[in-house]
Amino acid sequence: MKLEHIGIAVKDLAASNELFAALFDSPHYKTEGVESEGVMTSFFKSGDVKIELLEGTNSESPISKFIEKKGEGIHHLAFEVVDLDFEMKRLTDLGFILINEVPKFGADNKRIAFLHPKSTNSVLIELCQERS
Ligand code: ZN
Repeated sequence: MKLEHIGIAVKDLAASNELFAALFDSPHYKTEGVESEGVMTSFFKSGDVKIELLEGTNSESPISKFIEKKGEGIHHLAFEVVDLDFEMKRLTDLGFILINEVPKFGADNKRIAFLHPKSTNSVLIELCQERS
């Protein structure tokens, strides 16, 4: 598994885009909404790893709820896998708990599934596979 991106929950995507553009001295290279999740995302590159900023677009969004509970900050780590269905089965067999029993479509042309933080030291982990 290779670290693909780090997801960061933010309250104000436009303001955070400016902040991270200043940090990296390079602007975000795309924005993308995921309507089913109620999020708007933007992406930055940091070497081989991407930084995904996530803003909730409604109060029911998982990102809005996360910020309400914990405030802004690191939301998840995403690892790229070659075969998402295989890894989901492998990890379930090892006792990991999946949030998504069935993969869903995420931003950046990916199929994704999340592992429940209670089985991963409170770190929300996303598995992702490029959609072919
Ligand atoms: Zn992500």
